[in-house]
This record gives sequence, structure tokens and C-alpha cells, in this order.
Amino acid sequence: MRYEGTVYRPPSEGRSLIIQATIGCSHNKCTFCEMYKDKKFRMRNIDEVFEDLRSARARYSYIEKIFLADGDALIIPTNRLILILDEINSLFPECKRITVYASPKSILLKSPEELSLLKEHGLYMVYLGLESGDDTILAAVNKGASSSQLIEAGKRIKDADIKISCTLISGLGGKEKWTEHAINSAKVINEIDPDYLGLLTLRVENRLINQDVINGRLTLLSAKEVLEEAHLLIKNLDLSNCVFRSNHASNYVSLGAVLGDEKEELLQDIEEILKKDELFANADNFRLF
Ligand code: SF4
Repeated sequence: MRYEGTVYRPPSEGRSLIIQATIGCSHNKCTFCEMYKDKKFRMRNIDEVFEDLRSARARYSYIEKIFLADGDALIIPTNRLILILDEINSLFPECKRITVYASPKSILLKSPEELSLLKEHGLYMVYLGLESGDDTILAAVNKGASSSQLIEAGKRIKDADIKISCTLISGLGGKEKWTEHAINSAKVINEIDPDYLGLLTLRVENRLINQDVINGRLTLLSAKEVLEEAHLLIKNLDLSNCVFRSNHASNYVSLGAVLGDEKEELLQDIEEILKKDELFANADNFRLF
């Protein structure tokens, strides 16, 4: 297998075989994301992808999960993606799940029929970064999609019976818009009703977000405010059966629950943590500035 540049994958794909079907992200304009800024987007030649799959088959006797990288492999045209899925199914009959990152645009470019075909050929789950459900925040960070487009994209995946894992970024609206960020994000998530929801925390090692902070357009939340924002978000969620996790390296506090059943318990846990001021005394030191 050959890898080009730094390869990123969701935490839950830590034990998966990673195959780069694309290089970089076709959008690559989100201000908070530095992952693929050093890569010019392209789809890899399908023969190279097949070579990598064959070389992995020769090396590993058992592969349970395969993640197609980089940033939004769902942008690959459907007929070509089906060839890749079929090759995986033929080479790795033991593989239980094939997953990809997707941008809202790459989902909306696929018709419901195309998504159903991808499901039939083994696409198990799509990871969709929503980041926020607030339109002014989405525009400010150049997400390239409105809240209604995020909802449409998420529902299209669910309607195709493909699992969906969504992420939001705590603190993305800063002190200026934290309530709108929490409440409008909950509205979008409620409409999609995802299978998984992950909460990351805004990090400031990135040039463009730093510039917003320096220019006074965004005031960072303290660690305690990040948790208060998460509490408001969760309070406004009304989900049928969603595995919620906030255990990424960027988070101050690790949280996990199944929403709806464990929502009240999770809210109480957060309220207990918020009472312990000593926990937050040094938390902001994790920040770069
Ligand atoms: S769509 Fe995703 S990978 Fe691409 S720039 Fe935005 S956050 Fe980064």
C-alpha cells in the first residue's frame, strides 16, 4: 500500500485498513480545518486503488473494516465507487463494513437511487462533518452548505439505509454565538436523527481561525463554557437511538451515552461536572493561547 501525505481517519476506524481512494478534500475551504490544505485534490487512478487492495490482501489474512480516505471519498462518481466496493467484496469476503468521509456537497451530488446502489454494493456508513447547524456560523467558516442542505444530505443517507455518523464542533460560534450554535445544531441533528454523533472542540492551532480570534471576530469559549454549550445542545436533542461520544483528543471532558434513553442521565452528569470549579482551574492551559 502507498500513502500520500498525512492520512486522517475517524477515531472509530483505528483498526481499519485505510485505502486512499482520493487525495485531499474536494471542498478544502473550511476555515477551521487544516487536514488537507497541503494537498491538491484528485481522485486516484482506479488501478492504483486496486493495486493497494491486492497488496493489503497479500499482507493481511483478516480485514474486518475498510475506510476509504481521504477527505470525502463519496465524491467519486458512483460507477467508479461501485467498482471499488465490488473489488473489496471480492478480495475481502470477511470485511464487515466499508466506510467513507463525505462532504454535504458530495452527498447531494448523488441521487437517492445512486446512494441505494452504493448501499447494495456494501457501503456501510458515511461520516459527515456538520460542524454547526447555524447558518451564520456555517457561512463564516466556509462550510459550503446551509443548515437546510446539511439536513437534506443527512436524510438522503438515512433514506438509503446507510448508517450516518455526524460531528459538530464545540465552540465554533465563540462566545458571540454559543447559544445559537447549540440550539440550531440540535435542530439539524434532530431532523437527521443520526446513528452516531460526535462532538469535537475547536482548536486554535489553525491559521484562519487564529486570524478570526486575533481580529476579534471570534472569542474562544473557556473549558467550562464549552461544557455549558454541550449541555444546552444535548438538552435540545430529541433522538431515537443515537450513540453520542465526546471523547476526541480535542475535548476537555470525555462524555458518552445513548440518546434518547440516557439523555437525562448524561445531562445530570454534565451538571455535576459543572459544579466542580476546581476541575476547570487549569483546563484552559491546554489551549495554545
Ligand atoms: S469538508 Fe471536511 S475535510 Fe474538507 S475542508 Fe471541510 S472539514 Fe476539512
